[in-house]
Amino acid sequence: MIKLENISMSFHGKHILQGIDLEVQKGETLVVIGPSGSGKSTLLRLMVGLLKPTQGEVWIKGQEISHLSEDNLNKVRIGMGMVFQYSALFDSMTVGDNVAFGLREHTAMTEAEIQRIVARNLRMVGLAGQQDVMPNELSGGMKKRVSLARAIAIRPEIMLYDEPTAGLDPIMSGTIDRLIMNAKRVLCVTSVVVTHHMSSAFKIADRVAMIHGGRIIEVGTVEQIRQSENPVVQQFILGLKS
Ligand code: ADP
Ligand code: MG
Repeated sequence: MIKLENISMSFHGKHILQGIDLEVQKGETLVVIGPSGSGKSTLLRLMVGLLKPTQGEVWIKGQEISHLSEDNLNKVRIGMGMVFQYSALFDSMTVGDNVAFGLREHTAMTEAEIQRIVARNLRMVGLAGQQDVMPNELSGGMKKRVSLARAIAIRPEIMLYDEPTAGLDPIMSGTIDRLIMNAKRVLCVTSVVVTHHMSSAFKIADRVAMIHGGRIIEVGTVEQIRQSENPVVQQFILGLKS
């Protein structure tokens, strides 16, 4: 579903990512870990075509996307949902309209059907009945949950989550973890999840990739990562375990 081939990314001549090779299979959940500033968000932005790599290729469902026109890129993006690190809601729209946005843009559903999905998705993220609230009345964690409800509304085949549980309490984090796992189990969604919560990473991941110094220094199953002999990996997963 996703393949990165020899990706490098620089900003103003500064190398952020170098020689990244990564594949994510259909229905797989790949968790990306690594220190702040190591390029995790950049990696997700490359996957959805919001950034063009300085070098290398990004393949989504067999299509190389870094050379696509904006029109064709948008077609690929319809099948992808993204929850940004700093949730990007439409501030002038109610919560309900935010969640309904993709359905109104990309489907021929009736308003009644749309409202049913909006209500269901808000319930799933613990925000039942909040349709008429404006984003600026919400906490950061709530905004993030609205953007999650919005991203899954169009049932994307691929979901990219940038720190979906940051700033959430343990109970709400657990809810989001289960939502990610359900999307995989029920809809066979392919997911890439950036997280700092090791307990959540180990719970939801099929494989974990650790980025450090612009490179993927380790990638493997949860068991393989736990048993990694790389001291940087060990230090990271022990130091940040929660
Ligand atoms: P992470 O998500 O792992 O914390 P990021 O991908 O956000 O890391 O950022 C990696 C590095 O790239 C940081 O040093 C950041 O300042 C830099 N960076 C990210 N986006 C840009 C950009 N659009 N322009 C310039 N520098 C950027
Ligand atoms: Mg980030």
